[in-house]
Amino acid sequence: MKAYIIREKCLSESNICPPMKNCPNKCFSYIEDEEEPLGGRIEIDFEKCVGCGKCVTDCCGDCIELR
Ligand code: SF4
Ligand code: SF4
Repeated sequence: MKAYIIREKCLSESNICPPMKNCPNKCFSYIEDEEEPLGGRIEIDFEKCVGCGKCVTDCCGDCIELR
């Protein structure tokens, strides 16, 4: 199982994103992109993800799921 972000739901607030701070493997990164509606997006490094599920419960926008 790996964590996936449902883009349409994510608020892309890297400054306050709890999963970004708390992921034990530091899988999260913020990519600035003017093409994105919110000016950037949060991504998960699937290679690093161990599927612990912490980010799913930490996300305040209910936008991460394990698949
Ligand atoms: S907490 Fe969830 S919705 Fe908010 S920025 Fe982080 S991943 Fe996106
Ligand atoms: S499932 Fe665990 S390792 Fe994978 S991104 Fe979420 S917090 Fe990080």
